[in-house]
Amino acid sequence: MGDEARPPALQRVLLKLSGEALAGEAPFGVQPDAVMQIVDELRPLVDRGVQLGIVIGGGNIFRGLSPAAAGMDRATADNMGMLATVMNALALRDAMEKAQLACRVMSALRIDGIAEPFVRPRALAHLRKGRVVVFAGGTGNPYFTTDTAACVRAIDIQAEVVLKATKVDGVYDKDPKKHADAVRFERLSYDEVISRDLQVMDTAAFALCRDSELPLRIFDMGQPGELLRILQGESIGTLVQGRG
Ligand code: UDP
Repeated sequence: MGDEARPPALQRVLLKLSGEALAGEAPFGVQPDAVMQIVDELRPLVDRGVQLGIVIGGGNIFRGLSPAAAGMDRATADNMGMLATVMNALALRDAMEKAQLACRVMSALRIDGIAEPFVRPRALAHLRKGRVVVFAGGTGNPYFTTDTAACVRAIDIQAEVVLKATKVDGVYDKDPKKHADAVRFERLSYDEVISRDLQVMDTAAFALCRDSELPLRIFDMGQPGELLRILQGESIGTLVQGRG
């Protein structure tokens, strides 16, 4: 069966994009070309009927724990970080609409006139109608990251998996940039990630995935077509799943 005809192995997924993905090669901000490249990767999924939720980060604009926030009240800095995710979500929606993909932004922070508030049944209705839903505003609470928001929203929408897009093609036993003999894991259990102290996600996010038995796949979004291949059931990157 050709790729076109092959039905997707996954029906509903939550994709976590870091803010950096929108900056492309630039050190910060939003680069329209980089956003469009992401949309190009999403289109084949939507065309095949995959229900797609996206949690977008804000690190390309502001992080509550960044040096730029030094000396600031943490909650205020985190609110700025959450607002940065709203800006990124709008950039993503704009690019999707230009590419004729139906998209809704739902924000955990009320920001009337700019984004819909996050209401779980409405998010599910959008997904069933084939709209990509971009979840903005993180969890809506300071002291968290958008990795945690990704796991929360994945559980909310009963996604089959969290796909965490990174610049590295999976989880390694040591830093592959520093060690030529670093080995990539194809599969890990939650317990192995903890016992080996592998930095896959922050602890709160990881604990949520583990307790909800939500599989997590880490992959390199910079490789064109990887996302589609994952949706078609290929074992790409590193899958974290199961106990023991
Ligand atoms: N943030 C927050 N609560 C959340 C999610 C995010 O306060 O639930 C803030 C936090 O300051 C964080 C910033 O928003 O640093 C941007 O998110 P993140 O660092 O996760 O973005 P990414 O690294 O994925 O681009």
